[in-house]
Amino acid sequence: MEGREGWLLEGVIVDSRGAEPGYLRLDPAGRIVERGATGTQGPLGSGERRVRGIILPRAVNGHTHLADGLWTREPPRQSVQELVSPPNGLKHLLLARSSRRKKVGGMRRALWEMARSGVGAVLDFREEGVEGVRMLREAAQGLPLQVVALGRPAQLPPAAEELRPLLDLGDGLGLSAVADLGLSTARELAEACHRRGRKLAVHVSESEREELDPVLALAPDLLVHLSRTTEEDQQRIAQAKLTVAGCPRSNALFGRAPPLASWERLGVPFLLGTDNRMLASTDLFSEMEFAYLSARSRGETLSPKALVESVFLEGWRWLGRSQQAALDPGTSGLLVLRRPLDDPYYQVCCRGHEGKLFVPPVPADPSGS
Ligand SMILES: [Zn+2]
Repeated sequence: MEGREGWLLEGVIVDSRGAEPGYLRLDPAGRIVERGATGTQGPLGSGERRVRGIILPRAVNGHTHLADGLWTREPPRQSVQELVSPPNGLKHLLLARSSRRKKVGGMRRALWEMARSGVGAVLDFREEGVEGVRMLREAAQGLPLQVVALGRPAQLPPAAEELRPLLDLGDGLGLSAVADLGLSTARELAEACHRRGRKLAVHVSESEREELDPVLALAPDLLVHLSRTTEEDQQRIAQAKLTVAGCPRSNALFGRAPPLASWERLGVPFLLGTDNRMLASTDLFSEMEFAYLSARSRGETLSPKALVESVFLEGWRWLGRSQQAALDPGTSGLLVLRRPLDDPYYQVCCRGHEGKLFVPPVPADPSGS
């Protein structure tokens, strides 16, 4: 054991296998080299550091708009349309009058903050067309997290000369509501996205209920919000085996909530997103805690386990990187929450805090992309 460097992580491992007591050994680059049951780890090597706590894969933030974090005041008490609708919503005015340098810098700071707090991937819904996605790519350069850039055309209806580079440069489209786009434009965008083999995400039923049939006909990969949906809508989404993303804190500002308890009951895979940075921080521990407490205050049954899985496991499955959700030798990208081990899902969901985290380094470019 002499001279062994790296880390010995001990406690409860929470990953796609469930929650089990155990340990991991990491090499100095942060790669897992050994996993075993508690009590079999052997002595600590002389250069090896020990960390105890709840060991998790890194988190995935399922829905953000990072660029509008340049707004730093209390969100005005307006409707969501007044705040974020193009071209005259506060968010779009803010983006239009902010310099490119400010926007790139703001997004880069937000991404750094997320990487430091154990986020391994983020789905950012980027406005401002091709140039918007280009700014996001610049902001993300060299940072140790995967940035999934979901762009949208700056002009509607979209021109082919804009759509092609948008889909080349981005990972897909993050569309606003079909009701706002118009059905024929939404269809055109969806077809172009599928043809290019990119991800299609759509905002649905955020402030008013929308018919789901036209949305489902677009064959989306992800639906966002669904805070104004009926039980029948939830059942249709479950039947369609779609993944959804909910944003409890952002929705709460407008007096609504994503139906997380229904999703858990119906087995709908869901992600949590912190949504517009102008509205709330990118802290997923706050998001989980708020989701749990607000569901309890409404008398709904939503388990800490479902929330933890939505943040630390489900996103990796959605990204086609399920190996990141299983903490096995050869993988990297994890974190340790230094909290009691008795009820790990509750500890992570409601007692998580950046100050209690240990985030080991990740080898350069873990996604290979
Ligand atoms: Zn959004």
